[in-house]
Amino acid sequence: MKRRDFLKAGAVISIGTSFTGSVPEIFARKTKSTGEKMILRFYPYTLELKHVFTVATASRKTTPVMMTEIEFDGVVGYGEASMPPYLGESHQTATEFLSKVDLSQFDEPFKMEEILNYVDSIAPGNPAAKSSIDIALHDLVGKLIGQPWYKIWGLNPEKTPYTSFTIGIDKPDVVRQKVKEAEQYKILKVKLGLDNDKEMIETIRSVTDKPIRCDVNQGWKNKEEALKMIEWLATKNVEFVEQPMPKDWYEEHAWLRERSPLPIIGDESVQRLPDVRKAYGVYDGINVKLMKSTGMREAYKMILLARALDMKVMLGCMTETSCAISAAAQLSPLVDWADLDGAELISNDLFDGAKIIDGKVTLTDLPGIGIKKK
Ligand code: MG
Repeated sequence: MKRRDFLKAGAVISIGTSFTGSVPEIFARKTKSTGEKMILRFYPYTLELKHVFTVATASRKTTPVMMTEIEFDGVVGYGEASMPPYLGESHQTATEFLSKVDLSQFDEPFKMEEILNYVDSIAPGNPAAKSSIDIALHDLVGKLIGQPWYKIWGLNPEKTPYTSFTIGIDKPDVVRQKVKEAEQYKILKVKLGLDNDKEMIETIRSVTDKPIRCDVNQGWKNKEEALKMIEWLATKNVEFVEQPMPKDWYEEHAWLRERSPLPIIGDESVQRLPDVRKAYGVYDGINVKLMKSTGMREAYKMILLARALDMKVMLGCMTETSCAISAAAQLSPLVDWADLDGAELISNDLFDGAKIIDGKVTLTDLPGIGIKKK
């Protein structure tokens, strides 16, 4: 990194961390001042979770995110990178990556394929940071066209799915409380993979018979035991099991899929477009997330490829503001299952956008990704 960029990155990080919970001053990285050029701005933000959230791999109360804006011709598109710590991106890595993005070489934002291929080529990895550019660019282009992306893609807003509401691993009384809070949701998603899987399911079944989706987050390490557990889950009105075993256990997942009474969905195994082909014959379906796929454009391609391979598609999220959730919601009429409760899990959202109404993903008529700043 050049010294100037490094100093700038340091300034953003130090100020960003002292402003957790509120929007810090926006740092502009202006492109050339002559003619119409795209201007990229970004700032760190920290999401406060309503509950401590526990999955098989970790527990936490906050999620670092990076908010982006791309301005062109007086119109601003908004984007977001959500970076749960276990995935390896952070305020610092995103600042370093975004400092390298130079949009001044493009004369207008409509050349999305070229722009996003360039962004992807700057450095490997950084999927959430790349996604923050992709989302802001989609929001900008949609606003310039004057239409939301679901319309640009020709999708029916009535066809949005119901979303599940996620319940982390916890003690029975907390789990029962969370089930109560999830009253408006028609489907529950339950995190498994520690040593209390049956207790989690029994606790939920003691208070509701709503369908359950299970996410093991790679927590099971033995395929025979995984099969036994899935056979038991199949008697408990469970719809499917997500990422039961470690992400690189392709043969074991293919073995399990052949025998499992429930569909097996790949999440951690399926990050980007080439992973969809690898998942064929190994999983019944894939979980697409903007923060893995580098954004809406590649997520759209992943969904189409999965469909061509006759696989099921789920659309998931991290804990995110309504910015990234609304971006994902634009794609939701295309998928079988949605898990887009990320903005419902936080207490300091920055945007109004797609809402969950009676458990259903509900799109707005606003152009772009369909959001307004609060
Ligand atoms: Mg998952």
